[in-house]
Amino acid sequence: MTQGKNELVFCPLGGAGEIGMNMNLYGYGSQDEKKWIMIDIGVGFTDDSVPGIDLMVADPDFIVQRKKDLLGILLTHAHEDHIGAIAHLWPLLECPIYATPFTASLIKEKLREKRVQVGDNLKTIQLNGNVNLGPFDIDYVSLTHSILEPNALSIKTPAGTLFHTGDWKCDSEPLIGEKMDEGKLKDIGDKGVLAMICDSTNIFSEGRSGSEKDVRDSMMTIMENIKNRIVVTTFASNASRMETVFKCAEKAGRHLSLVGRSMHRIYNTARDCGYLQDIKPPLDPRDAKKIPRNKIVYLCTGSQGEPMGAMNRIVNEEHPDVFLDKDDTVIFSSRIIPGNEKKLFKMHNILVKREINVLSEDNAFIHVSGHPARDEMKDMYSWIRPKIAIPVHGEHRHLKEHYDFAKLQGVKHPALIENGDIIKIYPGEPKIIDKVHNGKMLVDGNRLIDEDSRFLKDRKNIASNGLMDVTLLISKKGQLDRNPIINLRGLPLNDEEFDEILYDLEDEIVNITSTYSLNNKKQEKNLIDGLKSNLKKIIYSKTKKRPYTNIILIRL
Ligand SMILES: [Zn+2]
Ligand SMILES: [Zn+2]
Repeated sequence: MTQGKNELVFCPLGGAGEIGMNMNLYGYGSQDEKKWIMIDIGVGFTDDSVPGIDLMVADPDFIVQRKKDLLGILLTHAHEDHIGAIAHLWPLLECPIYATPFTASLIKEKLREKRVQVGDNLKTIQLNGNVNLGPFDIDYVSLTHSILEPNALSIKTPAGTLFHTGDWKCDSEPLIGEKMDEGKLKDIGDKGVLAMICDSTNIFSEGRSGSEKDVRDSMMTIMENIKNRIVVTTFASNASRMETVFKCAEKAGRHLSLVGRSMHRIYNTARDCGYLQDIKPPLDPRDAKKIPRNKIVYLCTGSQGEPMGAMNRIVNEEHPDVFLDKDDTVIFSSRIIPGNEKKLFKMHNILVKREINVLSEDNAFIHVSGHPARDEMKDMYSWIRPKIAIPVHGEHRHLKEHYDFAKLQGVKHPALIENGDIIKIYPGEPKIIDKVHNGKMLVDGNRLIDEDSRFLKDRKNIASNGLMDVTLLISKKGQLDRNPIINLRGLPLNDEEFDEILYDLEDEIVNITSTYSLNNKKQEKNLIDGLKSNLKKIIYSKTKKRPYTNIILIRL
């Protein structure tokens, strides 16, 4: 490739305009032919608008069309919004995957669970290691965050260096894992950075995010003063916080028991990777039942109120091994992710009513964020000093605030973009040169489906309006062979009304069908439409609901 005609572009397919579903592409080459790398491939969580669907992923169609030129997927760290889509989307992309040891172990498990065979395509990169992919020479740079092994990627290209931060914060005492190497970051800045693509999550927070060490100190004091049972819930993926709870339990002379599948998964993976070596092994919750309530701490999944999380089951007295009594204490050692307030406050309310103490961010210092507040962002900008700054990992309001912030830091060319924009980083000034197909796909069972799929509309319709299913048996002579079979589901009718409305519907069906020649297929569409609209009217007149209606004709 001759550099003269070549360009360097960036295109986020997910994560620029929302928090979640991160999927970033960098391309280098001529206008028509580029080589690409992908950084991160995460999931997002849906709101309650689609019944039965919790997860979504960025629509990868643009890069699937170019998969022969996709040189690899590089993962910055193991949070779900960065790796969660790998098992769903890798079969469409079929390229090498690069990750540091802890992230790679968790991915291996994800792929195994979903039975996705990637052969030798999963490559483990050592901390601060290097990968060379065509025109991209990529250094992993250890940072600090709220999970083990968070990395920025420093990407040298013939057009200049890109610095993709991934998720980060400045934690001077992360307790486990690598510390952030300020000197190394300054050094990268000294050598010249063309563009920094940076986390925007906490751009509205003044000051600094604080350290895991501060949380540990505070939690020690808190736990030492608690008399009865202690149940702590936090994100399983934060191994540092997990270690804190282990250490606090030990200091308070208590045993610790891990509750919930992902707690065990992270504990085992972290230990396999050489972390968490210096703690007393946890008790099985079945054995922990036998320990007096002032000698035990439970560390549970479900800090966001997830219905299947251990915490929710414990609060609702549905857990087989963990119980709460009056004067026990529950510590929510995590932030409430926007959207989860209702679920969590419902849990808090149940606990308070049962006279169980609730400690959360609102009334105790038991959590710090994993993302940089403004003073940390200032540091990063002063170390890296990029010519171009592109905010990502945020909703539009975060990206705009970050854009203004970058300007204040003296960045010559801050750039505001959203999913699907192709921004030219080199040559010349940064400029959005194209908009490509983008959007989201929903994870439904084991399928990926378009958000405008027909059956999703049907499902929403059934969920909010109920269902009417009518089967007509038609004789050879073209008459109704017997009474129609009518099924009503999810409609607000009591038994008496239900019987009554069935008679009304049957009468209406007999009336309508008598005006048609039922064996004349040309009339079939009109017949079905007529039945649908008149039967719905009957239901509507009683209930003010218009159920999703299905009419089936069976010719005998
Ligand atoms: Zn993230
Ligand atoms: Zn993260």
